[in-house]
Amino acid sequence: MPSPPPVPVVGGGIAGVACARALAAAGRPVRVLDRGRRPGGRMASRTLHDRVVDLGASYLTAEEGSPFAEVVAGWVGRGLARPWTDTFAVAGPDGVRGTRRGPLRYGAPGGLRSLVADLADGLEVEQGRTVEDVAPGPRLDGEPAPAVVLAMPDPQARRLLDPPTAAALLDDRPWLPALAVVLGWETRRWPADLHGAFVHDDPAVEWVADDGDRRGDGAPVLVAHSTPDLAAAHLEDPGAAAGPVAAAVTRALGIDGPPAWTAVHRWTFARPARPREEPFGLVDGIGACGDGWSAPSRVQSAWTSGTALGRALA
Ligand SMILES: Cc1cc2nc3c(=O)[nH]c(=O)nc-3n(C[C@H](O)[C@H](O)[C@H](O)COP(=O)(O)OP(=O)(O)OC[C@H]3O[C@@H](n4cnc5c(N)ncnc54)[C@H](O)[C@@H]3O)c2cc1C
Repeated sequence: MPSPPPVPVVGGGIAGVACARALAAAGRPVRVLDRGRRPGGRMASRTLHDRVVDLGASYLTAEEGSPFAEVVAGWVGRGLARPWTDTFAVAGPDGVRGTRRGPLRYGAPGGLRSLVADLADGLEVEQGRTVEDVAPGPRLDGEPAPAVVLAMPDPQARRLLDPPTAAALLDDRPWLPALAVVLGWETRRWPADLHGAFVHDDPAVEWVADDGDRRGDGAPVLVAHSTPDLAAAHLEDPGAAAGPVAAAVTRALGIDGPPAWTAVHRWTFARPARPREEPFGLVDGIGACGDGWSAPSRVQSAWTSGTALGRALA
């Protein structure tokens, strides 16, 4: 008997790859289609000044005893992920005010994208493929498919669907933008135990990560995430946000002198304003998963949502 056609999973972020793995584990042929050059989505890492920098998610968390904790333990065991810290600084616009403890955060020496690439190992993945249309049937770019998975932010999924299907599967809840601003110095100019800082009450910056610390090479590189308001004002000219963000970071962390270099990455749809509690959406063979589901929005939710949808379709 000929094998059935593969289920197309649109989106090669962690949700799409987790969904594809769950389908493949159940013996279903599956194919991931992603418009980027490499898998990863918002777990993005880019080489800047000869080293990898994380530009999207800052770290992973994994609830103790959860299935995702087993996946993370596997990555740690193979040296792909590393426990980072459970403590970050808390700063205001004019300086550090204290510290805050929370769950253990994990980083990846090779960048968080390397974890998605590892999860995708052995799956059929087509990179550089932008899907244009998903229609009832279901059909993907005019071709019939046994089912279609949309593993991406809602606004990106809605663009592919006709209005009635979009309304049945998704809603028009807002997603917030962010800018990731990479700040590099010649030498480290902040305390070794900083790790990262939540910045409160600042109009430009809400979070700063020590990229050298989380990745384990000690490089003098910070990555700041802007407030949604600053990002919204700079979606057309993200580079112009580098100056205000660098000034806000040096002030908040008490760093002496401006960075030697900067780079800016725009995330038009960084996170949902209100993620759903439901694990995924599924209407007439068209499924939706990702961090818009399985609240709160984070890497673990995206993996959980994708895995649940893959099992349901299988
Ligand atoms: C700035 C920032 C900071 C964050 N910090 C953290 C953090 O510290 N900890 C944490 O747990 N989470 C964090 N997150 C959230 C985390 O990154 C996401 O929850 C997770 O990566 C979402 O994965 P996903 O697979 O659902 O979506 P995505 O990673 O967005 O994947 C969607 C994929 O779909 C592809 N795609 C879209 N449209 C099409 C199309 N038409 N055709 C083909 N492919 C398409 C895209 O190329 C992309 O690869 C952060 C996110 C951002 C942006």
